[in-house]
Amino acid sequence: MAEVFLYKRYQNYKLLIINSKFREKNLSVIRSQYMKIAWIQQSTMIDYPGKLACIVFTPWCNFRCHFCHNPELVLPEQMLLFQHDYIPEETFFNFLSKRKGLLDWVSICWWEPTLQSDLYDFAKKIKQMGFLVKLDTNGRDVPIVEKLIQDRLLDYIAIDLKNTPEKYEKTIGVTQTKKFFDEYQRLFKLLAKSGVEYEYRTTLVKGLHTLADVEAMAKYIEGAQHYYLQNYIWGNTLDPNFWGQSFDDDELEEMKKVASQYVQHCDIRK
Ligand code: SF4
Repeated sequence: MAEVFLYKRYQNYKLLIINSKFREKNLSVIRSQYMKIAWIQQSTMIDYPGKLACIVFTPWCNFRCHFCHNPELVLPEQMLLFQHDYIPEETFFNFLSKRKGLLDWVSICWWEPTLQSDLYDFAKKIKQMGFLVKLDTNGRDVPIVEKLIQDRLLDYIAIDLKNTPEKYEKTIGVTQTKKFFDEYQRLFKLLAKSGVEYEYRTTLVKGLHTLADVEAMAKYIEGAQHYYLQNYIWGNTLDPNFWGQSFDDDELEEMKKVASQYVQHCDIRK
């Protein structure tokens, strides 16, 4: 059945290359004209209580967060091994056409959808079919998000806030120029006046984040609609020697209390 999507769970896959270099040969394969879909979750109510969504997972990311749990869908060298397992767009849209009236949302997320050259047309087609669209992004490529907002193709946006500006590079594992932070702040201002519902979210790791950092991050997005704090969960990580730990419930509650002073709504996402 077309609806039965095979997603190969890669848990047993051993990391071949951790500190990968982007090779042009690899990138030309990954950067193709059509949307790469690694996995589809056919229905969930987690993103929107009371509303049914499906989630489209796209491979590849331009960050290298040490704690990332999916290196096989982030590092080009590893992605190439699975390129023939990607789900064709046509299969996804066949599935979606049979879900009209059943699903409310399509969530386009993980690992960094803005890297997909076909994202705009993909989102447009979903909207034209009558579904609401959510985009998850790490906030690295603002122009495409801006165009999607301007053309009213997004109904909800979730943006990663990885750490304070001072600790950003250490957290995401790649260097950034001042332009990145300027653009990130520009996106924040764009969202504030866009009329689109949005959230920021941070995966909190003991060893990378402190209570003071959470306060600084909440101030950085002062006035934001929603700010979700997510606890780091131990597991397979991009950096196999990652040393980070989870916070306990009391520590998270304290962080929520501090962050709540600066944003419209703050919560701990379980
Ligand atoms: S955690 Fe998210 S932003 Fe970081 S490398 Fe993984 S997919 Fe990219």
